[in-house]
Amino acid sequence: MNDCLFCKIAAGEIPSNKVYEDEQVLAFRDINPQAPVHILVIPKEHAADSAAQITAENSAVVAHCFEVIAKIAAQEGLAEGFRVITNSGAVAGQTVPHLHFHILAGADMSDKLV
Ligand code: AMP
Ligand code: ZN
Repeated sequence: MNDCLFCKIAAGEIPSNKVYEDEQVLAFRDINPQAPVHILVIPKEHAADSAAQITAENSAVVAHCFEVIAKIAAQEGLAEGFRVITNSGAVAGQTVPHLHFHILAGADMSDKLV
């Protein structure tokens, strides 16, 4: 077993506040929320360290993550809107090198970075 935090969360070795789970994907609440709703969506398998490693061979799980993001948005009542972020590399702010997508909602983000 590698030393990856999110692989350990996916395996249930480290507890998480689970929001959604299926065979390929786990979603859980961020431990240090940056908005009233802050959920992380991860492939259970360590498909890639970050968006920089997405290829034709592993991109299907990215599409599945976005199907799950739409389901979670409906489940969490995010009809007003939400933001999806993926940080790739330390300079971009990535701290956990296991591909993941942040869902942020519940705050007005219209004057922020993008
Ligand atoms: P990033 O900085 O884009 O790599 O995102 C990693 C995210 O994981 C940060 O927002 C952290 O707050 C979050 N995080 C770190 N450890 C845990 C944990 N044990 N459970 C939930 N979220 C975590
Ligand atoms: Zn991992």
